[in-house]
Amino acid sequence: MFTSFGIHMKGGVITERDADFCTVRIRAPAGVLSVAQVRGIATIAKRYGDGTVHCTARQTMEIPHVDPARLKKLEQALEKNGTPVGSEKDEVVNIIACPGISRCKFANIDTIGLARKLDEKLFGKAMPVKMRIAISGCPNACTSPMLNEIGIIGRIRPLRTPGLCTGCGTCVEYCKEKAIRVKRGISELIEDKCVQCGVCVRSCPFDLLKADHNHFLVSVGGRRGRHPRIGRELMTADSEEEVLFLVGKIIEWVYRRAWSGRLLSEQLDDLHFGKFKEEIGKAMRERKTGAPAEKPALEKQAGT
Ligand code: SF4
Ligand code: SF4
Ligand code: SF4
Repeated sequence: MFTSFGIHMKGGVITERDADFCTVRIRAPAGVLSVAQVRGIATIAKRYGDGTVHCTARQTMEIPHVDPARLKKLEQALEKNGTPVGSEKDEVVNIIACPGISRCKFANIDTIGLARKLDEKLFGKAMPVKMRIAISGCPNACTSPMLNEIGIIGRIRPLRTPGLCTGCGTCVEYCKEKAIRVKRGISELIEDKCVQCGVCVRSCPFDLLKADHNHFLVSVGGRRGRHPRIGRELMTADSEEEVLFLVGKIIEWVYRRAWSGRLLSEQLDDLHFGKFKEEIGKAMRERKTGAPAEKPALEKQAGT
């Protein structure tokens, strides 16, 4: 329960151009709301705002033009509606995701389920820099994950069934990257052109292409806005549990080591991103083999 002052300090409360009013942002992981919640937001916006709702770039909604004196009541109404006040300051902000396997035929992972799990674990955590997390179900990258501080992309490695290919060329037609050719009646993968989208796997009429396994490419340090930057690839994770572990480690590393007032993308070299990548790789390998994660090494680095 927050006092009026307390809620005013929350990241989801944004002072407007006319400082007598504020806009209230809502927490909506992956931008998914029930019809009842949307109705509830409409009622709340009519009661406390100017009767409009603004859909934001981070898949959430804002209630504009709220009188700050009514913030506490508004907060209670939003809590009751299951759509609490969101976040916009230097913290983990609303996690965005494309529809993923729930609706999109190109998807390789459950983006919305993953967004909810990450939201539960990390949403609103105070950080030295704003941390945006975006998830896309395939390399089409509809949520621009590489332009977020943490980006996650679902991928599939195509695997050929040796000796059975008819050379029909259907997979060649489907691959937009020209990463498959038919040579002597058998399809061949051109590894360095393949973006691991998995489209060919679903295209073979004889079901001869298999998914090696679905996995998650995680990037760090992307940024939109005034100085856009593409994030750097950190590593791939093989399961949701690994992604949760990995993202948790990235958040811990940024929390301990980054400075405020400077973009994360500009700090990565100073933060010894390469060393972090090595250490987190070791921790992931140890995790896979059941050995304890390499926590002391990360702590040691924090003091350098
Ligand atoms: S990123 Fe891929 S899975 Fe997600 S909506 Fe776009 S095409 Fe579909
Ligand atoms: S996974 Fe995608 S890019 Fe790779 S060969 Fe198949 S269709 Fe082409
Ligand atoms: S679609 Fe299947 S059978 Fe046809 S060339 Fe590709 S792998 Fe071979």
